[in-house]
Amino acid sequence: MSEIKDLKKELFSEHKNGLKLVNCETYNKITDYCEGYKDFLNSAKTEREAVAIAIATAEQKGFKPFEFGKKYSAGDKVYFNNRGKTVAFAVIGKESADKGVNITAAHIDSPRLDLKPNPLYEEVELALFKTHYYGGIRKYQWTAIPLALHGVFALKDGTIKQVTIGENDNEPKFVINDLLPHLATEQNKRTLAEGIKGEELNVLIGSKPFKDDDASELVKLNILKLLNEKYGVCEDDFLSAELEMVPAFKACDIGFDGSMVGGYGQDDRVCAYPALTAILEVENPQKTAITILADKEEIGSMGNTGLESDFLRFVIGDIADMQGVNPTVALRNSKCLSADVNAALDPTFQDVSDRRNASQLNYGVVLTKYTGARGKSGSSDASAEYMAYVRNMLDNANIIWHTGELGKVDAGGGGTVAQYIANMGVDVVDLGVPVLSMHAPFETTSKLDIYMCYRTMYEFMK
Ligand code: MN
Ligand code: MN
Repeated sequence: MSEIKDLKKELFSEHKNGLKLVNCETYNKITDYCEGYKDFLNSAKTEREAVAIAIATAEQKGFKPFEFGKKYSAGDKVYFNNRGKTVAFAVIGKESADKGVNITAAHIDSPRLDLKPNPLYEEVELALFKTHYYGGIRKYQWTAIPLALHGVFALKDGTIKQVTIGENDNEPKFVINDLLPHLATEQNKRTLAEGIKGEELNVLIGSKPFKDDDASELVKLNILKLLNEKYGVCEDDFLSAELEMVPAFKACDIGFDGSMVGGYGQDDRVCAYPALTAILEVENPQKTAITILADKEEIGSMGNTGLESDFLRFVIGDIADMQGVNPTVALRNSKCLSADVNAALDPTFQDVSDRRNASQLNYGVVLTKYTGARGKSGSSDASAEYMAYVRNMLDNANIIWHTGELGKVDAGGGGTVAQYIANMGVDVVDLGVPVLSMHAPFETTSKLDIYMCYRTMYEFMK
């Protein structure tokens, strides 16, 4: 019997629930760490806010804007701010960049409802905003919940007006209305995907007419008057604005035991926060450490702030140039952890996952060799050699980890920034935190997994 036991121990794969493995001291570190994470979720609901907070925190730790033409030496800390929406932090290594750099990449945009360029209208004496959803959402989840407005107006004279309404208790919030069950007979016949249609995601923003008068659109007029008083804007200024409706919920603990975190935008701030806090701790690394927090992942990483752009290539190029070494060689020798979430096994919807290859809450960080759909299409499939490197690193550092696919074969699929980083010739694999209700207005993660993600990011770059 004991021979079988020993053989099993030696030969079988063993990934356990991390909460059965950690001691009290570690668990306290985990919960402490997640207090900071919840604050980050509450104060960084858009990519712009995440970049601003990340830079402010990093500057306190000695990071300075990278200056082209300036010489930096080992241990120096710099950052590259791309239009306030994507940011790369670097700690210069003892080795020059042509020996390779270590990159952690996460994204800081999340699914939400963007205002249309011409959003404001009045209907039955109520004022509303038209929206165009950003990223993959299940539209029915976004009705009848409190929403907050975040973003900027960019005025013609170059002034930027910051907008945040609905986060403080004393501020009004916004809402998308849905039908009452009593009158939903026809709507109930729709498919779930069509339960609420894109053009029905209209946000209620006011009901008070400007004053008693026979003129039309007085509620709309009153809204514009309020906006004009507060931000100095008129209706045309919506054209040069980026305004987003996001859930107004605050992040909180979930469960009697408080072992989980609930909140909006955890895809992918649950990896962005660990990547950020890790690089802030990195001192004098052997290889240059880079953390990039990217925009536009949820709409395919397109655009000059997405990772399909050359931004990261140029960041590494600038560092290599500064050291007088070849940027192409630097890329070819570099390694990356694409830090993004995976779908956690849901107790109620287990049939979308293959139990043997699903990520699970409290099993630590999830290493995802490939994503994609229909036979791995559109995926960067990490090499066996690189997988070996990463799991060796995780095991040596006693990090709790497991592996997962994004759902059953042909159940659906998805992608991450890994493919764009792979295009540069960098070794890359997805690694992150399992999430329940991914892309919903309120997502759930496990505290242990978040902390293990932080430890992984640090271990990879230190
Ligand atoms: Mn993601
Ligand atoms: Mn996503």
